[in-house]
Amino acid sequence: MQSTHLDVLVVGAGISGIGAGYHLQKECPGKTYAILEARERLGGTWDLFRYPGIRSDSDMYTLGYSFRPWTEAQAIADGPAILKYLRETAEAYGIDRKIRYGLKVERARWSSDQARWTVEAREVSSGRTIELTCGFLFMCAGYYDYDAGYTPELPGKERFRGRIVHPQKWPEDLDYEGKRVVVIGSGATAVTLVPELAKRAAHVTMLQRSPTYVVSAPEEDRIANWLRERLPSKQAYAITRWKNVLRGMAFYAYSRRWPDHAKKFILGEVGKQLGREQTERHFTPTYKPWDQRVCLVPDGDLFASIRSGRASVVTDHIETFTETGLQLKSGEKLEADIVVTATGLQLKFLGGLQMEVDGRAIEPSRTLAYKGMMCSDVPNMALSIGYTNASWTLKCDLTCEYVCRLLNYMDRHGYTQCVPRRNDPNIKESPLIDFSSGYIRRNIDKLPRQGSAVPWKLYQNYALDRVTLRHGKIQDGVMKFSRTGG
Ligand SMILES: Cc1cc2nc3c(=O)[nH]c(=O)nc-3n(C[C@H](O)[C@H](O)[C@H](O)COP(=O)(O)OP(=O)(O)OC[C@H]3O[C@@H](n4cnc5c(N)ncnc54)[C@H](O)[C@@H]3O)c2cc1C
Repeated sequence: MQSTHLDVLVVGAGISGIGAGYHLQKECPGKTYAILEARERLGGTWDLFRYPGIRSDSDMYTLGYSFRPWTEAQAIADGPAILKYLRETAEAYGIDRKIRYGLKVERARWSSDQARWTVEAREVSSGRTIELTCGFLFMCAGYYDYDAGYTPELPGKERFRGRIVHPQKWPEDLDYEGKRVVVIGSGATAVTLVPELAKRAAHVTMLQRSPTYVVSAPEEDRIANWLRERLPSKQAYAITRWKNVLRGMAFYAYSRRWPDHAKKFILGEVGKQLGREQTERHFTPTYKPWDQRVCLVPDGDLFASIRSGRASVVTDHIETFTETGLQLKSGEKLEADIVVTATGLQLKFLGGLQMEVDGRAIEPSRTLAYKGMMCSDVPNMALSIGYTNASWTLKCDLTCEYVCRLLNYMDRHGYTQCVPRRNDPNIKESPLIDFSSGYIRRNIDKLPRQGSAVPWKLYQNYALDRVTLRHGKIQDGVMKFSRTGG
């Protein structure tokens, strides 16, 4: 029989949840835990998205876990390869046996008297609600709505006689061979889809309202592959991981410090692939590099498909759909058989969880994020969210390590409750994420805020977090511990 009380309840079996399972088993071996997953399979993002060409846009030496080397030759990997890596990781450590599938966590109520959460989860197949209790709730539910992606208002779309699809719900039967395809969007998904669709479609047009920074990177990391042939895989992986972390941090720091130089450099590289005119018209954003995520394309595949004539870019606004395509504001018409709305995600914080603490509903946007992983005044709850300027897993690994340290600290001192308390009136608040991307802008008011100083400030800096989360004091004067309940 499955236990209904656990020391730790993890929500979500994607990269973060599987990582949480590994760290809990290794660093808190005495703790019982389970992972509740709404879907019937593990992998999260990497199982959900099935569009052609789906791949990572950061390298796998940093998107992979610190504890499990990525040993494939590709540094930028496709979705199925990432999913295989996640499945194998879960199996190798027996984490797969801890996952309870088909359970969507909807509510959690904290009782300070009992020092435990009562968690309500809905059995997706039957609609029945079950209750579990746990001493610590670890939310690894990602950051977006699994039910549907974001689609802006598309005027006149009912007139269109072709097919409109969203990459989050790619139809298995969609045949685009020989068809005219318009991909609306300019983010990571659009730049991934365009070269892949262009291999078989009659023509693919990427229709964007405004340009994005696009950087080409080698699909294979020659140094990584060289090291792997000469060193044990763990050592080779660790070196490559550090190389890529530092390179990523250096590029980010350079872009923030000298945005004009960085812009010139990025546009110069695009110019070598596409020439000046195309670069100025379609690849020169109005914002600074890293005000939004920079898109990565392996071996310049997007540029190659544009050069070949199989794909093209149009920067314009949609006036209306017509029966046969799109009428643009400039007067131009785009004929299409298929329109792909690569218009992004719908942000969803904590997997939509409703929380109560001692009978009081918690509004996440009224809380302050503690070390980017807990919410002020919410006891015994952490969440795993990654970086916006580097691979997600880098932060998740550190978050898991910190949570395990916290749990072990509480055990050593006999504490049953920990809660970050905002005790400094001089802390100024600002939005949690300093990013101008649409999906952040649309939802920033639903997220916790960040503060102007540690431990409330989010630095988005792996090297710094590695020091503070691994070695910083658990008892920092902000985290309050107590022995209430039993
Ligand atoms: C197309 C795409 C490409 C990306 N590429 C990169 C990349 O290259 N590099 C990078 O760093 N990041 C990338 N990201 C961000 C990416 O989402 C993260 O890297 C990572 O996969 C997130 O892992 P996660 O486990 O935190 O969340 P998810 O992968 O979203 O997994 C969350 C899991 O929680 C489950 N869940 C959610 N709510 C509940 C609930 N209430 N109850 C029970 N279960 C729940 C979901 O079903 C899911 O299985 C990409 C995102 C997308 C959409």
